Amino acid sequence: MAEIESPRKPHAIMISFHLQGHIIPFVNLATKLASKGFTITFVHNEFIHHQISKSQNNSTQVDIFSEARNSGLDIHYTTISDGFPLEFDRAGNLNQFAESFLLDFPTRVDEFVGKILHSQSSSSYNYFLIADTLCVWPAKIAKKYNIVNVSFWTEPALVFSLYYHLDLLRKNGHVPANGLQENITYIPGIQSISTKDFMSYLQGSESTIIHTIMFAAFEEVKNADFILCNTVQELEAEAVSALNENQPFYAVGPVFPTDFFNNTVARSLLPESDSTEWLKTKSPGSVLYVSFGSLATIDEHVILEIAEGLLLSEVNFLWVLRPGTVSSDDDEILTVGFKNRIKDQGLIVPWCKQNLVLSNPAIGGFLTHCGWNSILESIWCGVPMICYPLFTDQITNRKLVVDDWKIGINLCGGISVSREEVAEKIKILMGGGKSDGLKEEMKSVRNMMQNALDGSSERNFDQFLKDLKAKILAK
Ligand code: UDP
Repeated sequence: MAEIESPRKPHAIMISFHLQGHIIPFVNLATKLASKGFTITFVHNEFIHHQISKSQNNSTQVDIFSEARNSGLDIHYTTISDGFPLEFDRAGNLNQFAESFLLDFPTRVDEFVGKILHSQSSSSYNYFLIADTLCVWPAKIAKKYNIVNVSFWTEPALVFSLYYHLDLLRKNGHVPANGLQENITYIPGIQSISTKDFMSYLQGSESTIIHTIMFAAFEEVKNADFILCNTVQELEAEAVSALNENQPFYAVGPVFPTDFFNNTVARSLLPESDSTEWLKTKSPGSVLYVSFGSLATIDEHVILEIAEGLLLSEVNFLWVLRPGTVSSDDDEILTVGFKNRIKDQGLIVPWCKQNLVLSNPAIGGFLTHCGWNSILESIWCGVPMICYPLFTDQITNRKLVVDDWKIGINLCGGISVSREEVAEKIKILMGGGKSDGLKEEMKSVRNMMQNALDGSSERNFDQFLKDLKAKILAK
């Protein structure tokens, strides 16, 4: 039967979440959807917009989608306030900020969506909402305005599943895990997981405002019409199909930009250094890339052990040491004396174009905190990993990389590390022998991911579009 087309164009109102690891896939999803003929209104909060503009070295504020629009995509870009002045220290006043995100921000979004839906051009469009799964308001707003509600989960299906079945985990006394080391086999689609591999928010006290937000978000997502997940069906087949039994759940990852190596849409919150010239001086596969992502903070002592371990390994390294990685004043963390000892063995930068670095032939390994985007990007480029997860989903993501897919090794058993251990693991990863097995596994996981891009993920995305259009028509 021929599909019935609405005379109105589908128009997504996409409201991003204010963290780097969420912004990147969210921006990518917007361009992907626009390339399928959708109109998009993409919304950043003003603070994020300001950070991106600053990182572009641009005193005039950037419209991040102007190039995409020039190439024919129908993406409008706008901002809403998070309720605080730009100069407010959000990280330093996390409780106040998070409380406002939980209680006041939904009202702003509600007003914003209401305005769009009542604008002059609204009769030309069928609006729907796409929000990050961590948002605590989409179902209420979608219900109020009778629009379709799509949730976008930027982490693996395994992590989604654990949060989704929180009640079951609580009923069985496994959350909070509180140091338990038990294997759990009762979560649908998860053969077995040890409680020690649970996300940090399921490990201990549940009393922080961040817990409140996470748990509220996972109640809210149960009312979503559709859930998109930035994972690959073949890599998490059972978890994806079990989730699909509850709600329409589509594995559409990796949601990468078409210009993977050099993004045309500005999405970085920090200025990006270009290390291409330095990497050119290094032989293929000889450089270890080191990064702990956009959020994690690490003890000064650990950073110093990692630094000494890098030197001790005698392996070339490119290290992203983001301002704020150490809670104390980390500009001074590595002394001039230490930096002089590095000589040409390593390069330390505050932030980089990670996609460009990982795809450089000189890179042979990645010492990573196991952020989900970093893992997807590393697989895409076929770079095996040393895993040093710190908090949140990183702990659970490590299980996938090391235990399930066998494309990485652990740095150590816990948070504390010694320089000898760091050097030893680097030598294992970057040398021959044991790492040959990792590289073989990586080839097959990488193939799976690359095939999914035109295969299962594309089919799932197209199915989602079909289901979405039908749902919109039925409204
Ligand atoms: N990233 C980057 N430059 C850097 C470090 C990271 O562009 O110097 C990007 C990286 O490519 C990834 C994102 O920032 O897409 C970090 O997300 P991830 O999920 O890996 O970790 P998070 O920052 O959320 O902990």
